[in-house]
Amino acid sequence: MTRIALIAHDDEKPEMIDFASDHADYLDDIEIVTTGTTGKRIEAETGVDVERKQSGPLGGDLQIGAEVADESLDGIIFLRDPLTAQPHEPDISALLRICDVHDTPMATTRSSAEYLLTGLALDDGVDLTA
Ligand code: PGA
Repeated sequence: MTRIALIAHDDEKPEMIDFASDHADYLDDIEIVTTGTTGKRIEAETGVDVERKQSGPLGGDLQIGAEVADESLDGIIFLRDPLTAQPHEPDISALLRICDVHDTPMATTRSSAEYLLTGLALDDGVDLTA
């Protein structure tokens, strides 16, 4: 089954909620793993079920990175705030690196997220552009 991770920095959480709500039907049919606060908001505000890891600053990005290392994830949508320094920047860099190592696709903006999800859905026989 297709399994993806959803992560959003605080400034980008409204965008992530909008994205998850737009694609709730497809997201309900696949496995979703998230960092703590992102997942809590997605569940509360869109009704999409997710598996929540730790909050990002407490190690959630590294837990998701471990899944990439195990080749358990088909893709990551990580809406990052490019303007605000994050206390757990080393963990974020580690997640980007392990995605590059395993050629796991990561989208870091809304538009790239749309392309990534559309591509994964096509592999599942679902046309999100229809
Ligand atoms: P959060 O973590 O979803 O727990 O806010 C995201 C992050 O900062 O990486």
